[in-house]
Amino acid sequence: MKMNRLNIACAIGLALASTLNIANAKTMVFTNVSIVDIDGSAPKGKQTVVVEDDRITAIGQTAKIPSGSQVIDASGKYMLPGFAEMHGHIPQQTAGEQAIKDTLFMYVANGVTTVRGMLGGIGQLDLREKASSGEIVSPTLYLAGPSFSGGSINSVEQARVKVERQKKQGWDLLKIHPGLTLEQYQAMASKANELGLEFGGHVPAEVGLDNILKHKQRTVDHLDGYVAYLDGESTPISDEKLLKVAKRTKEAGVGMVPTMALWRSLLNASDLETLQSQPELKYMPKATVDGWTNYYKAPRTTDFLRSDEPTVRNENRMRLLKAMDSVGVEILFGTDSPQVFSVPGFSIHREIDAMQEAGMSNKAILKSATVAAGDYFDDKDKFGTIKVGYRADIILVDENPVTNMDTLQTPVGVMAQGRWYSKGDIDKELEAIAKRARP
Ligand SMILES: [Zn+2]
Repeated sequence: MKMNRLNIACAIGLALASTLNIANAKTMVFTNVSIVDIDGSAPKGKQTVVVEDDRITAIGQTAKIPSGSQVIDASGKYMLPGFAEMHGHIPQQTAGEQAIKDTLFMYVANGVTTVRGMLGGIGQLDLREKASSGEIVSPTLYLAGPSFSGGSINSVEQARVKVERQKKQGWDLLKIHPGLTLEQYQAMASKANELGLEFGGHVPAEVGLDNILKHKQRTVDHLDGYVAYLDGESTPISDEKLLKVAKRTKEAGVGMVPTMALWRSLLNASDLETLQSQPELKYMPKATVDGWTNYYKAPRTTDFLRSDEPTVRNENRMRLLKAMDSVGVEILFGTDSPQVFSVPGFSIHREIDAMQEAGMSNKAILKSATVAAGDYFDDKDKFGTIKVGYRADIILVDENPVTNMDTLQTPVGVMAQGRWYSKGDIDKELEAIAKRARP
């Protein structure tokens, strides 16, 4: 384990030299810290939190500090679990080693310590292993395989075979894209249920929302299919209809990954100038940002994005999210980065704004990114809460995010799998990423 940590520090160079020192400490201890109360279970008062390897091993007002520990005086600071990006896109091998490293670092820099990758590609399973063994600086990765879509599936038999193959290869879930026929979807779903594989993603038009709820698709990402189901492309949907479908979703046990900020951009319901003024664009190559601008300006041709009234459609989405939240649907935080004007890691702050605008409370937003993600993956590991035995994925901030979410934009430091990155470490590496993006 220690060897791995040395490699990590070497791999990203002098910029993270201080990580090397910290990583050599046997244990790491935060003293006098306030633990943010997200779900009512956080201990009250100033706490000492002990981390050994990748686990939180003790929490208490009088927790003993093991000798030789690296101690961080966190007086006046707040600690919360790292965020999960439940709809992220991990680059494929073809993106190049540096681009992959930079993407993974930008997640960590913003406190994203878990990513559910939502489109499988070459090299990602290797990357998942390197991330979990600590060989690279990365959030913990859970990965959907290459997608099931109209383009990749031509028959019922092919759907079944593809499920079996992805199970054998070890993907964590299946990704559903538009274009599947109902028969193909049903074949995929029954084979996946038989093999104990979950599936999530879009609602293919021919399958429709009723079948998605019936077959208990694990998540519907982007609130896809709901607006079409409720005829809300160009006219406001009634509160009654929104509430009814939200209740049905809750009963079916299907989770939502809303991706509000991204979808607003995709629908052209955001203002281009505002999008172009996002300071984090400096971390992306100019060609990428130009591509996003061109996309923004191009006409929408796919059904699930086409709309004559983007503002009305976006408002329907916001009200739908609020209705889902009000009846207790499982909401999981996701931004679909990197995608149009959605920069890995930084995109969480755009999504927080959008969820607030939809009317979710700060606690509900925090829960969707931490406790809810931990519950979602409870068969894989324990994380998403600051508790003994849980993975040491931690964000340390200056203020209580329950009252001020903006504090998350400038973390004092981030811990991913027990490895600590101070603000100084993070800023230096981000500066290097900006230079590489715009030499
Ligand atoms: Zn996506």
